[in-house]
Amino acid sequence: MARVIVVGAGPAGLAATEALLTGSDGPLEVELHSLEPYLGGNAAAFTTPDGRVVEQGLHCWFGFYEQMAGLLARSGVDITQASSSGQGEALVWEERDQRTHRLYLGSHTSRTLIQGLAYTGMTLEEKLRFALFFARAMPEVLAGNAERFDDICFTAWCIERGFPPSLAATRMWRVTREAQFNLPGQVSAYPMIKTVKVMGRDFTTADFRFPMGAMSEVWWGPVAARIRALGGVIHTHHQLTGLSHDGQRIRSLRLRQVQDAPVEDWLQHPVPTVSGSGRELRDFDQVVFAIPPAAWQEIIHADPSLTELRPFANIAKLSTVSPLGLHVWHREAVRWGPRSFVIGLDEPLGAVVDVKPFHPSYRDDARFGAVLHFVGPETGYEDWPEEALVDRALTSLRRVRGYEGFTLEGARAWKLIRHHGPHRRYWNSEPGSLKYKPQSRGPLEGLWFAGDWVRNELDFPCMESAIRGGRQAAEGVLRELGQRRRLARRGA
Ligand SMILES: Cc1cc2nc3c(=O)[nH]c(=O)nc-3n(C[C@H](O)[C@H](O)[C@H](O)COP(=O)(O)OP(=O)(O)OC[C@H]3O[C@@H](n4cnc5c(N)ncnc54)[C@H](O)[C@@H]3O)c2cc1C
Repeated sequence: MARVIVVGAGPAGLAATEALLTGSDGPLEVELHSLEPYLGGNAAAFTTPDGRVVEQGLHCWFGFYEQMAGLLARSGVDITQASSSGQGEALVWEERDQRTHRLYLGSHTSRTLIQGLAYTGMTLEEKLRFALFFARAMPEVLAGNAERFDDICFTAWCIERGFPPSLAATRMWRVTREAQFNLPGQVSAYPMIKTVKVMGRDFTTADFRFPMGAMSEVWWGPVAARIRALGGVIHTHHQLTGLSHDGQRIRSLRLRQVQDAPVEDWLQHPVPTVSGSGRELRDFDQVVFAIPPAAWQEIIHADPSLTELRPFANIAKLSTVSPLGLHVWHREAVRWGPRSFVIGLDEPLGAVVDVKPFHPSYRDDARFGAVLHFVGPETGYEDWPEEALVDRALTSLRRVRGYEGFTLEGARAWKLIRHHGPHRRYWNSEPGSLKYKPQSRGPLEGLWFAGDWVRNELDFPCMESAIRGGRQAAEGVLRELGQRRRLARRGA
């Protein structure tokens, strides 16, 4: 029986495993190796023994996440039931007029532009110039190959086409970079243009949704149950440390056991390994590597011979960044806009949402008035003490209507999620990086890459991209195994 190994249990690894198990037309053994005790990778979240939900930062599901909705639906999860609508609305703190503005993107794509133009943070002249820019840029977005714009930063690309420079300096616009953790750096025009194109095709709603509960439990848990029901095997606490090859084929994987630790520790400390637990894994046909680029860079660094293979030499050049998260469990409730998604706060923690209204574990718990999940890139703030970062986030938030009373004295607890480990770092979609991203077929027979940073139909760093990338790698594996089976039959 053919045997396929999947390494990495984020959305890409989970999607690849499920697609392998459902798509094979012959008997297939599939093993998924997860570093952590929980599933979901960077999109993991879990409930601690004292009932708090902890994640890397803050996650939203968007209306064009078609493949993700499909994976969850096959696992018995209706995304509309397992998430709560942000109702297409955000509050934006604008520095230039020191005011909070309501940004409403509506419930349907066709109305998004019109409703977005009602944003009070723009002057009338900016609105007119934005509408003209949109009319001028859209045909270019929809036609032709966006890859040629990868070397250009998105803001420059827009300004060249008439986007008002004054708008490019707003906090609202900053979100285009912040959402990819590229702040204060720039973001490439390519992934932005490509996403607008895919969104235009696959968008069912301009709404975005927040997980109702811990994602590893309410989203990825059912996916894991489906994988097991289909006959797949999931191993946890396994870290990939290297691989061996003969220049043609991948021959073995080196794995080691990592120690168990309280789930919260996984978000904060380097992974402690079990000494003497290293072992070689052989006798497989194909491997899908669904680990992030910084994790690869660590492996490549320990085995420079890998850089003789072009994709690895390129992966070594990708730049990555540490995401930063902050949770504040607060006694007081937000007095205005109970489901407010607030953006435009001072960096590094520029976005926040109060999860109290929709997390079942908090909804009826009087101990918590609000539970705030902040997120942003840590770039430039790596040396800041924890207390200073928390203070900066709350000081900035207090300027927003409804949050005036939020001080640390009112907080029951807070937790900064600040992990610089390579498996936590995030790919930086900066201008000029596309040429270093690998295709899903690797440089050796039997080696496949998957992840939101690997070339795929969407090419924008997000959960949907990871899932599309995972499925794409699985389809490649299945094609190759099918071909081999046909050749064997013909030979026989
Ligand atoms: C703070 C934060 C907020 C985000 N917000 C959003 C959002 O709102 N919406 C959205 O769509 N996306 C969001 N994302 C992005 C989303 O989390 C990623 O796109 C998605 O998790 C990528 O999935 P992946 O499977 O490619 O990689 P990952 O999720 O990174 O999974 C990779 C897995 O491989 C494991 N691994 C790493 N090294 C090794 C090794 N050596 N051996 C074995 N296993 C290893 C990792 O531990 C992890 O489990 C956010 C990301 C972060 C960090």
